[in-house]
Amino acid sequence: MEYRRLGNSGLQVSALSLGSWLTFGKQIEDGIAEQLMIKAYDSGINFFDNAEIYARGKSEEVMGAIIKKLGWKRDTFVVSSKAFWGGDLPNQKGLSRKHLVEACEAALKRLQVEYLDLYFCHRPDLNTPISETVWSMHNLITQGKILYWGTSEWSAQEIQEAYTVAEKYNLIPPTMEQPQYNMFHRERFEVEYYKIFRDLKYGSTIWSPLASGLLTGKYNDGFPEDTRLGMDGLDWLKDKTLSESRIAKTRALTKLANELGTSLPKLAIAWCLNNCNVSTVILGASKLYQLEENLTSLDVLPLLTNEVIEKIEGILENRKEVLKF
Ligand code: NDP
Repeated sequence: MEYRRLGNSGLQVSALSLGSWLTFGKQIEDGIAEQLMIKAYDSGINFFDNAEIYARGKSEEVMGAIIKKLGWKRDTFVVSSKAFWGGDLPNQKGLSRKHLVEACEAALKRLQVEYLDLYFCHRPDLNTPISETVWSMHNLITQGKILYWGTSEWSAQEIQEAYTVAEKYNLIPPTMEQPQYNMFHRERFEVEYYKIFRDLKYGSTIWSPLASGLLTGKYNDGFPEDTRLGMDGLDWLKDKTLSESRIAKTRALTKLANELGTSLPKLAIAWCLNNCNVSTVILGASKLYQLEENLTSLDVLPLLTNEVIEKIEGILENRKEVLKF
């Protein structure tokens, strides 16, 4: 396993990490979740990602129970939670001081840990002043309840505003962003965040590296059974993820991966890892064999020569120029 610094912080995260969205407490049995955690940890993964909304808290309960059962020493793993969608009532959501404090307490209980290593604002909250959110996160750090705080799907401007507030009041600024980043979804990461990475040395824990499974090639020839995009209630994700043009490109990428002697999931994850602004790629898996395959993506990095990168660009046709000012 390779370890990367999380942005400008001293924290080292494994270049590959494991997330639990839609799987833990929902799509998969707890026994499978345990197998995934063991495989990940034994392979050097040290970061496990979670959120209050995942399976409405059950994902954190499952992960917390497994960590406790396995008896991992606290200094051998990094665990996160994210606040934003806690419930339906007005103060059960958002990034107010009240919700951040209460959501943090609840996550600590569900995960059965004394502190969260990483705590994310899961989305920006237009109904809360950014200064209230920055102060609340700073206070959670000084109280020892969280160690680092970050943002998820915030605009570069919102991240910069949080920084400015932190500087003004001498507070601890956010360390990392959790954005979607994959071959089909790259503009914000590569273009909008350019200055955030360059000037703030912001870290990143990127999500959906395989575009919810599309970039494995499993939808190349029809719709397979027992996959995320066929799950009840996820039509919105299926509609957002699958399109004729994306599937055509995925077929071409599959062919390229095979010509290179590898598989598309490995190539697609390696492509994310190849971006130096990626601190860690959060993997998702519903089956053990998937994690086993994805864990070998680091071996594929040397295949990403300039020539191969250009072949990939030729298929994707979605690279946007970064204006370096
Ligand atoms: P991916 O895009 O990698 O999708 C993972 C899914 O793809 C698996 O559950 C599995 O689904 C399928 N898959 C993975 N590997 C293989 C393989 N080798 N062969 C075949 N199928 C495979 O990542 P996720 O969307 O799961 O995101 C990863 C993590 O990022 C989440 O768990 C979460 O922690 C985080 N996240 C954060 C968000 C945020 O807003 N901050 C939003 C979303 C995720 P199946 O078997 O069902 O087809």
